[in-house]
Amino acid sequence: MTRQLLVLGAGTAGTMIANKLRHRLDAGAWEITVVDRDDLHPYQPGYLFLPFGIYTPDQIHRPRHAQLADGVRFVEAEVERVDAEAHRVSLTDGRLLDYDYLVIASGTTPRPDQTPGMLGSQWRRSIFDFYTFEGANALATALQGFDHGRLVVHITEMPIKCPVAPLEFTFLADAWLHERGVRDRVELVFVTPLPGAFTKPVAAEHLGSMLEERKILLEPDFMIERIDDEAKTLVSYDEREIPFDLLVTIPLNMGADFVERSGLGDELNYVPVNKHTLQSKAHADIFAVGDASDIPTSKAGSVAHFSVEIFVDNFLELIAGKPMTGSFDGHANCFIESGDHKGLLIDFNYDTEPLTGSYPLPLAGPMALLKETRRNHLGKLAFRWIYWNVLLPGRPLPLPAHMSMAGKHAVTAATKEE
Ligand SMILES: Cc1cc2nc3c(=O)[nH]c(=O)nc-3n(C[C@H](O)[C@H](O)[C@H](O)COP(=O)(O)OP(=O)(O)OC[C@H]3O[C@@H](n4cnc5c(N)ncnc54)[C@H](O)[C@@H]3O)c2cc1C
Repeated sequence: MTRQLLVLGAGTAGTMIANKLRHRLDAGAWEITVVDRDDLHPYQPGYLFLPFGIYTPDQIHRPRHAQLADGVRFVEAEVERVDAEAHRVSLTDGRLLDYDYLVIASGTTPRPDQTPGMLGSQWRRSIFDFYTFEGANALATALQGFDHGRLVVHITEMPIKCPVAPLEFTFLADAWLHERGVRDRVELVFVTPLPGAFTKPVAAEHLGSMLEERKILLEPDFMIERIDDEAKTLVSYDEREIPFDLLVTIPLNMGADFVERSGLGDELNYVPVNKHTLQSKAHADIFAVGDASDIPTSKAGSVAHFSVEIFVDNFLELIAGKPMTGSFDGHANCFIESGDHKGLLIDFNYDTEPLTGSYPLPLAGPMALLKETRRNHLGKLAFRWIYWNVLLPGRPLPLPAHMSMAGKHAVTAATKEE
């Protein structure tokens, strides 16, 4: 009898898993089905560039089904619920899908509805997000008409996907306002629930001084309670108030609602898993890969990529009745756009914070860690091509899945490229 691998979500992780396994599982023995609610695969890192006109909307999407290998069945439908005892998934259109193994790859979604006042009268008038296609496009229009006042960039709560994207937006906004000759008429403020610019000390210090150099005000430890949309003010639990003329917020990020309905999630609807194998702590035949899991590393496409490499080999061992020998180390790397055609790169894992140095090779690089270079910026731009043509099809990228200490040194400051 044919066995069923069911993947919920045809985003970054779900697409890579289906494509890699289609090439390695016997087509007669295994059917692979991928479910997603629509047939438009977005290149989400591109949302960062839409507000500044660096990318145009037509450069963001491709059809989901066309990214899947021949022999992978694509079902366009909304997932309603997982019945883990019955090994069955119900879709909102009434269809039922049985599985032998289930991969939850349903990602994380911005939820402006979770903060009182965010979706009030100012939503998409003076309050915007750029974590959705619609939000990034609406913000592009709003920025065109903005030439003075207080521009506040705000993170509601961690974790969020691509935790450096709000900083990147802030650096790009600073450069863009300079280019238009209006920077001195705009007060730029970065508001975060973290004690500093970033989660880890070395990167936080470096990125914090980049904010300072650019005269961007940092408001740390800000736990938002509500937005007073009439007064156009952010209000925190400790009663601090931050006024804005234009607010760019990252709403609370949450896993999919069906995860909660199925009793499979934590308080933010993320699936608790073993952080080294991504296997559900509650059900041995369920895995959560990509942003949908609760692993303690960044929610990022790079994490999806490195962890899928480990997952695929482990999965083949598991179905052969062997112990899973691969162990994911939380490896993440992210380019950070810093404006003026420069960028930084960070590379880290569960145990090692982002450090200075070079990547992937010692000395030769070619990428510099925690240092602004033009090459890092070009790397970020090149990534869109790599995403569609190498990562999603499941082709090998010559980067090890595990983080390496080669090329890294533990210093607390990096100098800007001359
Ligand atoms: C602005 C921005 C910039 C970013 N920049 C970077 C970057 O520079 N580098 C980097 O590594 N990462 C970056 N990321 C993060 C990266 O895009 C995500 O981490 C990555 O896409 C996660 O992959 P995933 O497969 O877990 O989730 P996704 O790719 O989001 O896929 C989840 C899929 O599940 C589907 N789904 C959810 N619920 C249901 C349901 N009920 N029924 C049916 N389908 C459902 C969704 O439609 C979606 O297609 C960025 C993200 C954003 C928003």
